[in-house]
Amino acid sequence: MNRVDIAIIGTGPAGVSAAITAAVRKKSVILYGEKTISEKVRKAHMILNYPGLPQISGKDLAGRLAEHLQVMDVGITEMKVTMVYAMGDYFVLQTSDGQMQEASSVILATGMVQARPLPGEDEFLGRGVSYCVTCDAMFYQDKTAAVIGYNRQAEEEADFLADVADKVYYIPMYKEEPVLKEKIEILREKPLMMFGEMQIEGLKTENQVLPLDGVFLLRDAIAPGKLVPGLEMDGNHVKVSLKMETNLPGLFACGDITGTPYQYIRAAGQGNVAALSAVSYLDRKKREAE
Ligand SMILES: Cc1cc2nc3c(=O)[nH]c(=O)nc-3n(C[C@H](O)[C@H](O)[C@H](O)COP(=O)(O)OP(=O)(O)OC[C@H]3O[C@@H](n4cnc5c(N)ncnc54)[C@H](O)[C@@H]3O)c2cc1C
Repeated sequence: MNRVDIAIIGTGPAGVSAAITAAVRKKSVILYGEKTISEKVRKAHMILNYPGLPQISGKDLAGRLAEHLQVMDVGITEMKVTMVYAMGDYFVLQTSDGQMQEASSVILATGMVQARPLPGEDEFLGRGVSYCVTCDAMFYQDKTAAVIGYNRQAEEEADFLADVADKVYYIPMYKEEPVLKEKIEILREKPLMMFGEMQIEGLKTENQVLPLDGVFLLRDAIAPGKLVPGLEMDGNHVKVSLKMETNLPGLFACGDITGTPYQYIRAAGQGNVAALSAVSYLDRKKREAE
């Protein structure tokens, strides 16, 4: 497996800025996120406080960020990272297509996750709760599972699960009508809690109790503490030093996930610091190995 110097997760101002600086410092980079740049950039009507770009629309700023990556020859891998494992000297990243990528260091720039965990989610994570159908569908052969989809990409994953599982329920958390394989049962019901003993045994919704073997929660983003086991948090934010170091050596965090104020320029500035800290970390490791 080809190991990159720095894996960067997120294509908001923090991740893009980190990728640009890492490229300037000639490190090999893999950048995960949306090719169209973060929705929080795209959706802003008018931005008045980004230095050098007065009165720029979010759409235009997203375009400028994408263009800057292109100029620096940094591609975007349009894939959701579902897990980051710290292996000691390096990291393994799992993506929603079930692929693994090794990296010597990682920069988390995933923005702020607003969604509260569903009751039972933390308790049953890895014991019936999963964030990745491609990674875990095989455990549901001849079983019953539910997919709680927060966006339309989740429909594709539910279709794949239906090829493996005996019965699949799909609970859309958005307004559009899902288009799914016929054997999938669509439930327009609010999920309330998951229950069980050692493993998940079911899901309570506002109208019924569904006996289940598994629940897939397919959100836009995964909370950092769940994405990286062992990551130290400070409330809802990742705990970082002024150099954007986390408690895990070689793992850095920047942007909204590190705290308030939630601002583009703060995120971009922290992305720059995180990349320079990652470069120092890699250079120090290299010197120690020589
Ligand atoms: C409508 C609106 C208007 C705003 N206006 C202003 C303004 O005028 N001025 C200002 O300074 N700030 C403004 N903000 C705040 C600003 O949007 C944020 O502070 C900024 O976007 C944070 O950047 P970030 O890079 O930390 O995270 P984000 O921009 O949130 O980017 C995070 C990226 O990571 C991706 N991601 C998350 N998890 C994963 C994963 N597991 N795998 C792969 N990718 C993942 C997300 O899809 C997203 O692309 C505004 C926010 C909103 C919502």
